[in-house]
Amino acid sequence: MKRWTAMLGILLMCVGFVGLAAEEQSRQAAPPKQGKTEKQEQEDLPPWRWSPETVRQAVNQVRAGKDLTPREWPRGTRVAVALSFDFDAETNALRDNQLSPGVLSQGEYTARTAIPRILNLLDRYKLPATFFVPAVTALLHPKEIAAIQASGRHELGMHGWIHERNSLLGEDEERRLMRKSYELLKSVTGRHPDAVLGLQPGHGSAHPRAGVALRQQSHGRRPSL
Ligand SMILES: [Zn+2]
Repeated sequence: MKRWTAMLGILLMCVGFVGLAAEEQSRQAAPPKQGKTEKQEQEDLPPWRWSPETVRQAVNQVRAGKDLTPREWPRGTRVAVALSFDFDAETNALRDNQLSPGVLSQGEYTARTAIPRILNLLDRYKLPATFFVPAVTALLHPKEIAAIQASGRHELGMHGWIHERNSLLGEDEERRLMRKSYELLKSVTGRHPDAVLGLQPGHGSAHPRAGVALRQQSHGRRPSL
């Protein structure tokens, strides 16, 4: 009796192995579903089933590129610091359709109080800085934009249309807003934006194509996500 039980066990194991092997074979040999490229098929899979090539493509959309750190900084400086400010003003509130006086007044405070104070401080030490400006900020606060430009020391950078969350936009919409932002900033400042800063979306990561759209809109400048 014991011998029969053991043989039955071995037989069932063999059937199990054959079944697994057949399933694996059919999975590997399965042709792409109709109308989908192999790449799209891969993207539909959970990441732990991606091919090495798909893994590489996913990370290659956002790479730091070559190291641009100079061998030494000018005049023997030991540390370099970049000062940049987001002049978001009311755009975050507007984007979320939060129109209460309290929230909007926080945005206006940025333009009325914070920007002049920051400019005064930078002037005192003759420091250059980059101000990233959503287009709607420039639309609402052209006087402050002119104040930033007045010293000729600071850069102005693109920072979206209304501080939109790029990861929630389709690629076409994202591109359209970038173009629109570029045109508006150019018309308010009278020159090309100096830099491009991608928007940090509210849900943890940027739109997968954001890097491509940024590069296209950056006019040779190094875009940053
Ligand atoms: Zn911002």
